[in-house]
Amino acid sequence: MLVRDTAYVLKKVLFKETSLILNVLSRSGGLQSFMVKGALRPKSPFLGVIEFLNEIEIHYYKKENTTLYTLNKAELIKDHFSLTLYPDVLMEIGELVQYTRRNIPYNEPVPALYQSFSFLLRGVGDKKENKALLYYFLTLLQEMGLPLKISKHCICGNAERSYFDPENGSFGCSRCRKGIFVGEKMADDLTALAGHRGKEIEISSTEKAGYMEILKEYLKYHK
Ligand SMILES: [Zn+2]
Repeated sequence: MLVRDTAYVLKKVLFKETSLILNVLSRSGGLQSFMVKGALRPKSPFLGVIEFLNEIEIHYYKKENTTLYTLNKAELIKDHFSLTLYPDVLMEIGELVQYTRRNIPYNEPVPALYQSFSFLLRGVGDKKENKALLYYFLTLLQEMGLPLKISKHCICGNAERSYFDPENGSFGCSRCRKGIFVGEKMADDLTALAGHRGKEIEISSTEKAGYMEILKEYLKYHK
């Protein structure tokens, strides 16, 4: 069966002399690996198409008893070459891509993650990279079965939430003092993002860097 799908290029690994194993996040297949034969030959139609973060249309034949398909054709939909202007953001996307490749099962559709990844790349173009990075991280944690436990109150009922507990992924008050002090804005910002109300908030680069570190701590605690 011929499959046409759209996908983001996540990684390429050299295979033999001129071929590649390609890692993508696709709309209908989730994380997938493809054999791309002759990808590095001088006249290969894949040259320049299968580059990191490019959005591409892929064609392949689905067969039984294998999960490593051969890529028949790939066409560029959109490159993200402009990201090279933002090396810091590119590095953070690279890190989130690594977490994704390590923690999400292959060959299972993950539509929420695919959509969130496209928001991420679009968000960087629209200068909303701080919210876009955090939103993708929250979606990734959700897909990994580690969703943050976002509630409007501390477990004691207090409305103040200035601590984050990396043990269970919840926010709490300064009376209970469980976990790391993060200030009240982090819980408010992440609550808004998780509730698709990102438009109502602003997150600075410094705040974003702080939140990312805390979320990485949470991830480390559980992986
Ligand atoms: Zn409390």
